[in-house]
Amino acid sequence: MSEVVIVGGGLAGAAAGALLARAGIRPVVLERESQPKDKICGEFLSVEAQAHLAAAGLDLEPLGGARIGGVRLAAGRRLVESPLPFPALGLTRRRLDEALLAHAAGEGASVERGVMVHSLGQGRLETSRGPVSAPTILLASGKHEVRGAKRAAEGTLKGMVGFKSYFRLSGAQRAALGGFVEVILFQGGYAGLQLVEGGVANLCLLARRSRFDAAGRTWPGLLRAVLDEPHLARRLADAEELSPRPLTISDVPYGFLHAAPDPPGLYRLGDQAAVIPSFSGDGMSIALHSARLAAQAVLGGAHARDYHARLRRDIAGPLRLATWLQRRAEGWPGRHAALAGLKVFPGTIARLAAWTRVPTPALTRAGLQTRRDHRSHHNEN
Ligand SMILES: Cc1cc2nc3c(=O)[nH]c(=O)nc-3n(C[C@H](O)[C@H](O)[C@H](O)COP(=O)(O)OP(=O)(O)OC[C@H]3O[C@@H](n4cnc5c(N)ncnc54)[C@H](O)[C@@H]3O)c2cc1C
Repeated sequence: MSEVVIVGGGLAGAAAGALLARAGIRPVVLERESQPKDKICGEFLSVEAQAHLAAAGLDLEPLGGARIGGVRLAAGRRLVESPLPFPALGLTRRRLDEALLAHAAGEGASVERGVMVHSLGQGRLETSRGPVSAPTILLASGKHEVRGAKRAAEGTLKGMVGFKSYFRLSGAQRAALGGFVEVILFQGGYAGLQLVEGGVANLCLLARRSRFDAAGRTWPGLLRAVLDEPHLARRLADAEELSPRPLTISDVPYGFLHAAPDPPGLYRLGDQAAVIPSFSGDGMSIALHSARLAAQAVLGGAHARDYHARLRRDIAGPLRLATWLQRRAEGWPGRHAALAGLKVFPGTIARLAAWTRVPTPALTRAGLQTRRDHRSHHNEN
């Protein structure tokens, strides 16, 4: 096996694989899915995420995402609209993740599909193809926990149920939605609606479990209930649901930021390192940011704990703000008051969108001590 094994070939894992392979290391990427798959995601690709993908060498142009230049917030009869401070894209994860994984393989990473990692410990993994040893492990399994490296997610905003489904909107509603990402706030949750490639609309919805229970614990029941929101009802009038059934997720640990000790040589990437509330549209960018930092740390021989410290420094601010906003938006009166305020100061939406973003500074070696630095530091003391 290689010196470096990457668990998971989603965005973080595939990006790290591509970056390491470009630099001459031949990492092994173990991905449990043998085929392309839809993923639960709003599929809003921020400008930062696009920049990270470009830095990994992926050309997004041929993938044909839908351009997004504005944001609308809706609650009840209130609707506020603002240009985004950056151009975004609506692109399906099925297409994006597959393109990035193929790109990693093209760069020289050894991508092994249909391999499930069951557990891991210091320098070793148990997989569906038998045991594997590697001194350096990049854990990029997304929301999925791996035995031996569970996330310590106490105190996070768990308890939401998520759904994603594709719709073909009527011509008039598709035209009205075009160029915007829309966030519809409803009692006990929110929904994101935007176009992706091919003019199809992605509806991604998060609801408190109590709201889901009250709607009879079914997707059609919940959808019927949230269609009380006039904006969503207008958009989905005469729409055809294309997904045979929605993708679902529950108990996402929003606000999680990894800090607990890990075995040496274990670098956590993407959702294994941090989970920002979905409405921020920044999860993919954080995943890619972590991939770049981790690749740089591995190439420079930096300790995993220094990599994690640097990642925490980069993302703690936006993560805290987005988690605080999600908590505040859960109160029904707070949501209406916020919308009323934003109507008067629509520029605030753009500022909030900018504040919840993780900047993409030039990723230099600064802040990542190498093992050699550590040794000389200890020798000096
Ligand atoms: C409801 C919702 C909406 C969201 N909307 C947006 C949005 O609009 N914009 C945005 O930027 N972010 C959004 N996010 C966040 C974003 O989807 C994640 O942050 C991002 O996918 C994290 O990337 P990742 O590479 O860490 O994990 P993933 O993309 O989940 O990749 C993990 C990979 O690991 C593989 N894997 C898992 N376990 C194993 C195992 N044991 N062995 C081998 N392989 C394994 C999986 O098959 C998968 O391919 C949203 C999240 C949710 C929940």
